[in-house]
Amino acid sequence: MRGDPRRGRPAALLLSLALSACGVGSAPAQAPAANQAPARAEPADAAPGALQPFARCADDLASLARTQGIPDSVVAAQLEGLAPEPAVLNASRRQAEFDRPIWDYVDAAVTEARVAAGRAKLAEWEPTFAAVEAAYGIDRHVLAAIWGVESTYGAVLGDRTVVKPVVPALATLACAGTERAAYWREELVAALRIVARDVVPTEEMTGSWAGAMGHTQFMPTTYLRHAVDFDGDGRRDIWRSVPDALASTANYLRTSGWRPGEGWGYEVALPQGFDHALADEVTERPLSAWLRLGLRPAGRPFADPEARAVLLLPAGARGPAFLILPNFRAILRYNTALAYGLAVAHLSDRLRGDPALAHPWPRDDRALSAAEREALQTLLTDRGYAVGGVDGKIGPRTRAAIRAYQAAAGLVPDGYADAALLERIRAER
Ligand code: CA
Repeated sequence: MRGDPRRGRPAALLLSLALSACGVGSAPAQAPAANQAPARAEPADAAPGALQPFARCADDLASLARTQGIPDSVVAAQLEGLAPEPAVLNASRRQAEFDRPIWDYVDAAVTEARVAAGRAKLAEWEPTFAAVEAAYGIDRHVLAAIWGVESTYGAVLGDRTVVKPVVPALATLACAGTERAAYWREELVAALRIVARDVVPTEEMTGSWAGAMGHTQFMPTTYLRHAVDFDGDGRRDIWRSVPDALASTANYLRTSGWRPGEGWGYEVALPQGFDHALADEVTERPLSAWLRLGLRPAGRPFADPEARAVLLLPAGARGPAFLILPNFRAILRYNTALAYGLAVAHLSDRLRGDPALAHPWPRDDRALSAAEREALQTLLTDRGYAVGGVDGKIGPRTRAAIRAYQAAAGLVPDGYADAALLERIRAER
């Protein structure tokens, strides 16, 4: 919550776009922390002429893997004669252009079918959920929600039109000539390390186009750090073992700071005449203080009035409002996109038996394109409002700048970047 939800790269980069049976898109691919220039700048295209540069890049990857201790036999079997995967490149380009309003994402991620399937899975795997909950202190409904959003409870893992062998996918991305090459190389070497451990037959070591693997979509480096063997067969098998996948996810959430016994937050109703400037996403107040300000839970009552929460209006004053507890940040460590966090949070509530959101989304609103977001940031900057850099990403600093602009202009200061706001600022010129 404290960072731009689209800026950081979580340790588990979970790109459910390619994995979701119903075409749910995840957040835009997150930029890696490392931005070193790629080893080669040639685009690894599907065109025949591009194969040669790819082969040279694959040779470099093989050398890198050997220097990192991957056995020769694994390197040879996995990387020699490899061809780039056009479908992976196409998916990565589509993901970069991805643009949709938050409610589209949440609607697609939290369908009635997914709620029903999740409740069935909670019943089917009840002893496993109970054991994982006892071992790691993670709410089973949140675990089930992540499982549902990431792979529709594993339903897509057997669909080879959706999942792909991880090593060729990562090699393709590492050789695509993008600024993220260093990130993909690191994930590729981690994937080869997993191959060397013989956890799962190579042909079954599949993932999304971006290399996110198994029931709950761990990137290879995340697997190496956080995956656990929960069913006791000696393998950390997140592809074929539901207990291993759920416990690995729980282990990751615990490492990410999940507080046992606390929820993620609440949808709330705002009072008439509410000062929207209080929804600044950063000022924590005890739930009791929010109650004194007139906010009320939209559904179940607050469990602990002294728990501290920030107020978030992800779609502005016209959309639903949420009081966000610290555990929400642990969910965002899985995937930093706010839309992802809200989808998991809301699905977890639905799996628990709660109803749909009480307040509607402003569905008649049009989401801004990346170019329009940059234009808005430029206009705000021109007027003296610090947006934290013109990058087309509406993060906390841009939202704070919008709130300041709105307050000065006599508008409702909800920090929401929509077409109406952009038109208004443009009309001032
Ligand atoms: Ca196991």
